[in-house]
Amino acid sequence: MRSALGQKANTTKQVLLIEEIGNNLKRIEPLLAPMEQYQLTVCKNHTEAMQIMYASGADIVLLCCSSSPLPCQGMIADLIQCHPDLPIIAIGENISPEHGERLIQANATDYLSTDTLTSDSLLRCLRYAESTQQKNSEIDQLLHRDPLTTVGNRQFFYRALLQKLTQLPHVPRQLALITIDLDEFRKFNTRFGVSSGDQIVQDMCQRIQNSARADEVIARLGSDEFALILDCSPEEDLDIAVNAHINRLISVLKDPYIHGNESSVLNCSIGVALAPEHGIQLDELTRKATIARFSAKQVHGCSYSIFRSSMEEEINNQPDLAADLMNALRGEQFTLHYQPRIDLHSGRIVGAEALIRWNHPSRGLIMPSDFIPTSEKSGLIVPIGYWVIHQAGLHLQTIKTLGLHIDRLGVNLSFRQFRDDHLVSTIRRIITQNQIDTSVLEFELTESAIFNDEEHVRECLDALSEDGITFSLDDFGTGYSSFALLHKLPISALKIDRSFVSHVNDSNEAAEIVRSIISLAQNMKMKVIAEGVETREQLDFLINHQCDQIQGYYYSPPVSFEDFIRMLSTN
Ligand code: C2E
Ligand code: CA
Ligand code: CA
Repeated sequence: MRSALGQKANTTKQVLLIEEIGNNLKRIEPLLAPMEQYQLTVCKNHTEAMQIMYASGADIVLLCCSSSPLPCQGMIADLIQCHPDLPIIAIGENISPEHGERLIQANATDYLSTDTLTSDSLLRCLRYAESTQQKNSEIDQLLHRDPLTTVGNRQFFYRALLQKLTQLPHVPRQLALITIDLDEFRKFNTRFGVSSGDQIVQDMCQRIQNSARADEVIARLGSDEFALILDCSPEEDLDIAVNAHINRLISVLKDPYIHGNESSVLNCSIGVALAPEHGIQLDELTRKATIARFSAKQVHGCSYSIFRSSMEEEINNQPDLAADLMNALRGEQFTLHYQPRIDLHSGRIVGAEALIRWNHPSRGLIMPSDFIPTSEKSGLIVPIGYWVIHQAGLHLQTIKTLGLHIDRLGVNLSFRQFRDDHLVSTIRRIITQNQIDTSVLEFELTESAIFNDEEHVRECLDALSEDGITFSLDDFGTGYSSFALLHKLPISALKIDRSFVSHVNDSNEAAEIVRSIISLAQNMKMKVIAEGVETREQLDFLINHQCDQIQGYYYSPPVSFEDFIRMLSTN
């Protein structure tokens, strides 16, 4: 099949004679037979012609026309939609110059009258059509090529996709539209300048090309956004092909990018929509691939999503929730609950983790899993996060005023909060204004939050630890678990993720992971806290393996501040 830019490697040209009207084969065939470079195929009607075009294509079409140009014009439109730069020669008896002009206006390349047809005029006309097509296709390539990367541009891509989608009802194929971009590319550009940005885009394009199949359509849609079309036969398993392709893409895109004397890790997000499964309309398919890519963006690191209809619902509901969250912040609808942290040596409460809840006026108490992701997506987690620190600070003061004490108060910091350039200065201001005892404050971070932008996070943590704040790694074992990270950052505690703790008694693997995290923490002189302890057996395992502290329903779920005070006073 011809590629979207219209090249064909074979030197023999396929001439398709469409003879719905008239009987020109008798005249054409003997004239064309000695011309070895042309191979003739004949078809008798519109359906047959379109089938041939979709299946194998043609290099030149000879379209037989009657004295009325109308039916011919319709046919030309259909052919052009199938192959935009196809040379079409209208052919008929006594085509008048007016009639010929109308055919050319309807996108025919040229016209021939059979009454004056000779071998010579036919050859000239074919050559002219070819060279016109060649020139058009050169112009076309220039217009449709991205100057920075030399792959196709946005116009090229949409045309190629449209062409493939129009063919779908006629040919049994399946397509995957894959869109790719980098996370925080804009930030990179601001920090390192556009020429470094251009270098990254070129490198990224090269990597995408290296991981693509030969027949794939690849284009740059803008800035750092690329798209490709995976075109599969019906025998191929599309899911497998898409997965294999994406794994190849991620494996090449996750490597650091070198620019000047520096190197940066830039994560990518990939969104996929499938045709015909998710639609055969261009707008619909591109929109769905973008939705999937946005959904992939919510996951740290290089990640991908294949479109699901629930993503659309989520997007539709998002503005409401985001607006609601805004009101919640203004209307003081958030509260903090506290889950005690128990020291296993003394059996006493030595700390707590502050966990946010939303007291919704009509929906009741909403748990963080139902609104933190949207807060992160909308950026509202930044002010909400400050509210949490502020509120936790007020509670710490109350604890002190009541003559009570805890060693540590854990406060969760989301990855998104590090994107706020004023993070350190704002936290410092909240601390000073509320006279928070920084030695009690322990921010809980996840490994992925750090991995996202290691340098920047390190700068923030270093600055905050100068003020006496400590840090723990939350959900430890589920993320990247880079030991280098533990050495480089001021982290004083590891929190073993609940998924391991809950299986210590029924999975050797979980037990082994918990044992190694405990000994890792001991070797690095860090405290180790097991999360989500629910049973006596889990507790016994942790005591036997010298875990320092636990948190979990076995001892207490998160409780209101008032209840926590009661627990502390009878500690
Ligand atoms: P997390 O930081 O891992 O918090 C621990 C979660 O485990 C809490 O869920 C807690 O209620 C739950 N949990 C504790 N012990 C047990 C147990 O024994 N069994 C079971 N099944 N669950 C237990 P919660 O309060 O729903 O919070 C969920 C997540 O929301 C937190 O996970 C944290 O990532 C996030 N989150 C909560 N508050 C904040 C906040 O103020 N800021 C940010 N950025 N995230 C928060
Ligand atoms: Ca936590
Ligand atoms: Ca956790």
